Amino acid sequence: MSIYTKSQQEIAENISSKAVIKDWKDWRWQFRHTIKTVEDFEDVLNISFSPEEKKEMKITLRKFPMAITPYYASLIDIENYKDDPVFKQSCCSTEELHVESYEMGDPLAEDSDSPVENLTHRYPDRVLFHVSNMCAMYCRHCTRKRKVGDQDHIPAKDSLIKGLEYIREHEEVRDVLLSGGDPFMLSDSAIEWLLDEISSIEHVEVIRIGTRMPVVLPYRITEDLIDILSKYDNLWINTHFNHPRELTDSSRQALKKLVKAGIPMGNQTVLLAGVNDCPYIMKSLMHKLVKNRVRPYYIYQCDLSEGLSHFRTPVSKGIEIIESLRGHTSGFAVPTYVIDAPGGGGKIPVTPNYVVSYATNKVILRNYEGVICTYKEPDSYEPVFCDRKCETCTLELKTEGREYLPPVGVEKLMADYDDETSLIPADNERIIRRNSNG
Ligand SMILES: *Cc1c(COP(=O)(O)O)cnc(C)c1O
Repeated sequence: MSIYTKSQQEIAENISSKAVIKDWKDWRWQFRHTIKTVEDFEDVLNISFSPEEKKEMKITLRKFPMAITPYYASLIDIENYKDDPVFKQSCCSTEELHVESYEMGDPLAEDSDSPVENLTHRYPDRVLFHVSNMCAMYCRHCTRKRKVGDQDHIPAKDSLIKGLEYIREHEEVRDVLLSGGDPFMLSDSAIEWLLDEISSIEHVEVIRIGTRMPVVLPYRITEDLIDILSKYDNLWINTHFNHPRELTDSSRQALKKLVKAGIPMGNQTVLLAGVNDCPYIMKSLMHKLVKNRVRPYYIYQCDLSEGLSHFRTPVSKGIEIIESLRGHTSGFAVPTYVIDAPGGGGKIPVTPNYVVSYATNKVILRNYEGVICTYKEPDSYEPVFCDRKCETCTLELKTEGREYLPPVGVEKLMADYDDETSLIPADNERIIRRNSNG
């Protein structure tokens, strides 16, 4: 099967009459010829916008810049580009200038939860490390739209060193998630340096990389990069396919290389109106992913970032999609649908309800077919009282030295070893009154 499809051939010729297949598959060539202006877009794709449209698109570009690799542009169906999922994800639209009152620059409060520059520490045991602020393609639905194309945000090496220091000083961090921007925008040597540095920190058990390269610039997954990545046996990669059309020969080859290097692959999809807000499209996407040994990880509800209202669906659409997957297809083809809580609460799973009712020792459940069944719970279950003294417990846990963190939230309410019976907001008036009376 050839990588040079008809549309790739045309685009390559429009960019340079001298372009050969070797150029097309060279990620640096792709990067050098990234489409950044409306005129470039028209020339490369043989599309012409009306003068009105062009004027409006240029206004959008001043606020939110555009970048599309020739490869990703070649996936656009020129005949029907206005409805095209690749076009919608990559080409600027005036709808982005429409800002709703409830939208925010930083809806996930990543900057507020940032103890040092370029690092977000939100969860107890893991951190998000923004190691690059550049991307090969600027997704129009980017949750970090506030930073897109912002040259000031390319982290300098000493800023990355500060992040590494933070991780080194915080022994509770057992999982480091490299994101950006796209970490694979860094040079091979910078990637190797970062992975070596993080690997040298004893308490870090897992390293993850979030990248869209297999989708928008699969030729970045070179043999040299694979040689580097395959050295780390605790590395996981999550990529970002949103539509079955994005699984092409080129992207499949990139995935195959990563899988062969022994890296577990996951995928995060964003639920986008007009792109993939359809149970059939989502099921086809999940099937194509697992066929290529990529495990669907999350479907995200679109964040409340500024200028994304035209992409947002109601939450019911996400539940409908999960309803159409769970039970209907392989369990490992069903991702978790999450809402990343505005204000920084983290990812919250949202699912259809399967527990219909609950009686003493009996759970009433419904399955995907609508069949309602009863699960009889044991009449005699002797719970093990937990005082957190694992040495004297009848259940065995060899923790290999890692101290587990104290329980938080609802977990704490459930625990035997904690007397707390309620979680009360800090500004609860009744409790404030009670305390001032006392
Ligand atoms: C998503 C995210 C993580 C990782 O969350 P998982 O559910 O473990 O994949 C960590 N930190 C931040 C700030 C995140 O947004």
